[in-house]
Amino acid sequence: MDGLGRGCWIEHVGLRTGVDVPISIGRSLAPLSCGAELWHSANLPTKPHTQAAPPGADGRFVELVREWWPEVARDLPWRASRDPWEVLVSEVMAQQTQVDRVIPKWKAFLKRFPTVETAAAATAGELIELWDGLGYNRRALNLHRCAETVVADYEGEFPETVAELMALPGIGPYTARAILAFAFEHDVAVVDTNVGRVLARLNARTLSANEAQGLADELVPTAAGWEWNQAILDFGAMVCTKRSPECSQCPARSVCKWSGEGADPAVGSAGVSSTQAVFAGSDRQARGELVRQLRSGPVLVVDVAEVFGFDDTERTNRVLRSLFRDGLVVEEDGRLTLP
Ligand code: SF4
Repeated sequence: MDGLGRGCWIEHVGLRTGVDVPISIGRSLAPLSCGAELWHSANLPTKPHTQAAPPGADGRFVELVREWWPEVARDLPWRASRDPWEVLVSEVMAQQTQVDRVIPKWKAFLKRFPTVETAAAATAGELIELWDGLGYNRRALNLHRCAETVVADYEGEFPETVAELMALPGIGPYTARAILAFAFEHDVAVVDTNVGRVLARLNARTLSANEAQGLADELVPTAAGWEWNQAILDFGAMVCTKRSPECSQCPARSVCKWSGEGADPAVGSAGVSSTQAVFAGSDRQARGELVRQLRSGPVLVVDVAEVFGFDDTERTNRVLRSLFRDGLVVEEDGRLTLP
């Protein structure tokens, strides 16, 4: 996967480094060289904005990226939406899942759950059923809990502050700011793995979380938060990529302090993903397989070891307990089902 983390859907429930979720939750994004679709929608500017950018090299970086972006912006259907529920679903799905796989799932999910009220009225199991093929099923569970809270505590209207959004189940600092920037068009900065990587390279040094967020905040042009955040996300996904940054063709090369020379300062920098653990044979694979089979119907507890592919009773029990603890599986009379 190239590129990481649209924030971390499960970070707020204390599982950011949990058993089956890496430290950074990622989105894989197709680089420009592999034929990413271009977008020329009314949602995008047709020429660079003229608002004053901050002074200095960072201000020039903003100008260069904003000049580059309108012609290459990716065609992502959620960019046409300002509905916080639709934006939230896109952000949650895009964590750890390639964006081209997310698009049809996002459309199908919103067809079944077009509003936060419809999701809140469903069972968690119904959301998990529609999560088939996306992986990391806890994201669906947290989405359901979030919908229930927004309906119960906010009468179905998402709050518009970072603090209130982060108090919702499963929403961390990235997702809170993404809702504010992409649904409400506030001038806040999102820092996912792409943005974290770009900022570290631009400054030629590894950044702390506070430094990365502070630098990102300073870049946001006045009254252009939506556009700027989309532009820098695309820049990180298409030009300043994880494995092969296109420095020789980079529109911001003149203001970049790293430019591909020497050790990559993005490694270990805030928000930047680390390598994912091997999936085959992992507990995560076993958990996913049981949930996959539960989408088709109940599974007997006595059959779980076979579903997991384990011949180790202790490991089977441990993994099954983790599914109970997360609320992804319930048991009654020796039969397991989705919640
Ligand atoms: S010059 Fe290279 S490292 Fe610097 S911003 Fe551009 S692509 Fe990234």
